[in-house]
Amino acid sequence: IASSETKPEPTVIRVRDLVMGGGNVGVIAGPCSVESEEQIMESARKVKAAGATGLRGGAFKPRTSPYAFQGMKEDGLKLLAAARDETGLAVVTEVMTPHHVELVAKYTDVLQIGARNMQNYHLLQAVGEIRKPVLLKRGASATMDEFLLAAEYILDQGNQEVALCERGIRSFEAHTRFTLPLATVPYLRQRTHLPVVIDPSHGTGIASLVPPMCTAAVAAGADGLIIEVHPDPKNAMSDGAQSLTPEAFEKVMLRCRKVADALDYKM
Ligand code: PEP
Ligand code: MN
Repeated sequence: IASSETKPEPTVIRVRDLVMGGGNVGVIAGPCSVESEEQIMESARKVKAAGATGLRGGAFKPRTSPYAFQGMKEDGLKLLAAARDETGLAVVTEVMTPHHVELVAKYTDVLQIGARNMQNYHLLQAVGEIRKPVLLKRGASATMDEFLLAAEYILDQGNQEVALCERGIRSFEAHTRFTLPLATVPYLRQRTHLPVVIDPSHGTGIASLVPPMCTAAVAAGADGLIIEVHPDPKNAMSDGAQSLTPEAFEKVMLRCRKVADALDYKM
């Protein structure tokens, strides 16, 4: 179903003002985790002012250590919905288990499937049964074929709104958190009609590397960006080292817009 041979025209995902695909570059920005009302509201207002149309924020967090902050859970979902009500931003948040799909879908506009769950087939089928867009992240060790077949699990249940997100892969290189292959964008463009989104935050793990990867992703033809932005990265409860300040994010937006304009993409 995902193949461009089955459907040559690009799939365009539209939810509120967030548009991804068919020459539209949607920008989703916000903190790794929802931490408090003040934190998510300030993040939402600032990323909106800079031009983002989507708000990210994890309420259920898949942390490597069971002792690390696990997210605010339903309270976090409620804060995201409140931020959406005030700003109009489309909310993107992760769902980690089939048991939570109904709960998360009640609050969010887009359901994120995290890298660790890319091959959780029951979860993929569960989000395939609902009618809200899904942002499917590539597993850190998944091949392109495995990635596309994971998307197929969702599409096969009838949900046609799947965006594929490259978030970096495991490699021998230890200087960055993951290795971000931007060739994923033109490669997937040839194989599938689904929108392709780049996550330069998890892809590099280092805030100073994020801005150039954003402009490069737009130049490569990405249909969307998902970027971690925190009002106070040093004190973030997760992924502070890769999070941009709102000021840095504003600069990223200005530079990406220039690239998008030059290439006739709408951003
Ligand atoms: C996230 O978006 O904060 C996240 C946990 O991403 P990933 O699943 O790509 O590691
Ligand atoms: Mn994160």
